[in-house]
Amino acid sequence: MACRRCFEAGLLQRCAPVLPHPIRSQVVLVGQAPGRLEQETRLPFSGRAGRELFRWLKTAGLGDEEEARAAVYLTSITKCFPGPARSGSGDRRPTSAEIELCQPHLADQLELLDPWLLIAVGQMAISRFLGDHAMDELIGHVYLPSAEELPLEAPVPLGVRPLVLPLPHPSGASRWLNHEGHRTQLATALNRLRRLLDELPVPI
Ligand code: SF4
Repeated sequence: MACRRCFEAGLLQRCAPVLPHPIRSQVVLVGQAPGRLEQETRLPFSGRAGRELFRWLKTAGLGDEEEARAAVYLTSITKCFPGPARSGSGDRRPTSAEIELCQPHLADQLELLDPWLLIAVGQMAISRFLGDHAMDELIGHVYLPSAEELPLEAPVPLGVRPLVLPLPHPSGASRWLNHEGHRTQLATALNRLRRLLDELPVPI
């Protein structure tokens, strides 16, 4: 919460790291970066994108927002609001310099929690864990730590971690979901998430 690395490096004017409630969970969700509102609330996914995300998680069986926050550790690739995009639409993507400075924080979170399931939200988080592939190829599938796909009918490997489930970004700035076929992929992904949550080694 006290990190000022990006300010000291001249990359951000203001640093206000956003972190979730300190829960211990086997499920970690990683987004791109906090938005403007989160910079004030200091709580991940507390803006409009969050409302959509919690609607998705409810579909996957995680209950309401309060229950989802108690069950899933919510974080992001970088922890501070990067500012608005120059185009005027949405937020600026964190730069590679910001990602590199923030990477140790995410690495520490993952090492401490050692999650069984990692939900990667949006292209940046998906690329971080599964490499550079189009979201069309990945959404609706589940991946082993090797980035190999876990087939739909395969038994869930309880001793392997983390499984990675990619989701699109719930922000209104993402146009990926405007395509009807992509909405079907999202429904498939949430269905798979529900089934994985049912298989959790220790239920949440
Ligand atoms: S984005 Fe990450 S590294 Fe940069 S100041 Fe915020 S917490 Fe620190």
